[in-house]
Formats: sequence, structure tokens, C-alpha cells
Amino acid sequence: MQWPRQGKKIGVLLHRMRKKKANVAEKAIAYLEYCEGIGVKSLPKVKSRANAEKKSAAKPETTTKSVAVSMENIPGAGNAALAALFYEIGDCQRCKLHRLGRSKIVFGVGNPKAKLMFIGEGPGEEEDKRGEPFVGRAGQLLNKIIDAMGLNRQEVYIANTVKCRPPDNRNPEPDEVSTCRPFWQKQIEIIQPQLIVTLGSVATKTVLETEEGISKLRGVFQDFRGTPVMPTYHPAFLLRSPGMKKFTWEDMKKVMERLDLKVKKEL
Ligand code: URA
Repeated sequence: MQWPRQGKKIGVLLHRMRKKKANVAEKAIAYLEYCEGIGVKSLPKVKSRANAEKKSAAKPETTTKSVAVSMENIPGAGNAALAALFYEIGDCQRCKLHRLGRSKIVFGVGNPKAKLMFIGEGPGEEEDKRGEPFVGRAGQLLNKIIDAMGLNRQEVYIANTVKCRPPDNRNPEPDEVSTCRPFWQKQIEIIQPQLIVTLGSVATKTVLETEEGISKLRGVFQDFRGTPVMPTYHPAFLLRSPGMKKFTWEDMKKVMERLDLKVKKEL
């Protein structure tokens, strides 16, 4: 907390600080409720700030066996700017998705210093239940792709263009997309990935602000504010059309070449 600046009216300062305090408490409660919701029983003890990063890798106790909970699964853990963004989003009611059956806000997951960031469309049923992106069937295929690239989920960062599940897995609507845009953009600003992969047509159109279809854009590097973007097919589409996997794999090989990664195995 900063010492109040000289020359300011005490009444104004008190008003501001009280408001800030209430805001921080509200966001801290939202964060702890989220942790509890995904099965975290206790957060690891952190003795000093220097130890914080090391400790954040420690696994907290969990109550839910089916959910693999590690600190990496907790939005913002180990990164103050991401944690602040998570608090800022809070119990978001900025667009209609909050009242259309959303159960959890799906913030994003992975390494806050990731070289590679994946951006998908929006949470599905499983993601909505667990509060983590790409944990359903499409997520399993994404994991395979990441693994074939010689990486794992903890090394990359995964987010979506909207943080709440659209009902019946419909495409997010323009007002929902524009409301959520500042949040994934802020995530990109914080993480500063060397490269972004957009998964599928909706994510590609949203990030690149284009109407061009995915079949035209995939496989060719694009740009988002100076960061190279590789559009590729969505894993859910690849599950329906396995014959198209070879194209995504071609795209990922281009990504790997840019990031100086070696192919671990063929997809
Ligand atoms: N599809 C997406 O686009 N995102 C997810 O998180 C899951 C499925």
C-alpha cells in the first residue's frame, strides 16, 4: 500500500482507499471460492517472496480425486499480473453468458512465461465444470499435439476468446466476443508469447479481426500486434475429420521451426 500523497484531501483519500479495500477483498473471495470450487483444499505455505515462485509449483491438497489440481491449474498462480487480472474479472457479469448457464469462468492455464500460447474459441461442458480450458475430448487431442511438439500443458499457455461457456456450445456472439476481448489481450500482454496458435475459425477470426475462413488462413503466419500467429484447425474439427490432422501437423511443424523445437513424434 502506498503512503498517501501530501496535499490531497483526507476525505477523498479515505474514500478511495476504502473502495480499493472492498474491491480487493471481493476479488480475493472470488479467487478463493474459485480454488475451492476446483478442489483445492489449502494453498501452499509461502515463507518469503523469494520462495513464492518455487513453492507455487508445490501441489496443494485436493478433495476431488477426478480433478488433477496443481498450482499451475490455478489462474494467475505465481504471476501477480495474471492474478490481478483474474481478480479483476471476478464473478464476471459483463455479458449475458453469465446468466446463460455458465458455472465457472475459464480463465486460462499454463506457464505465465510461455513461448507458445494457444487460443481456442470458448469453454465447452467439461471446461465449464472444471474451470480449465481444453480438458474435454478436444483438449485430449490438443494435449497430444502439444506432446508431439515436445512440450506439455505446463510449458505452454492456453486460453479462449470467451471465458464463459456459450449455451449448447453455440459460437460466441459478437457482443460476448467484444466484452471478453480485453481479457485475453491482457493475457497476451502479460505472457508475451513468442508465437500464438489460434485454434479454429472463431478464434482465428476473433484474434485477427478478419472475416477470412480458416482453410484460407491456416498454415500461413499472420500477425497480432507484432506477435506471429499461426491459425490452424480446431481439435474438435479434427476429431470429426481425422483426415485433416495432417494439415494441423504441418502447421505445427512451422511453429516448431520458428521456436526452434524438435519433433518428438509424428502426430
Ligand atoms: N473448445 C474450445 O475452443 N475451448 C475449450 O476450452 C474447449 C473446447
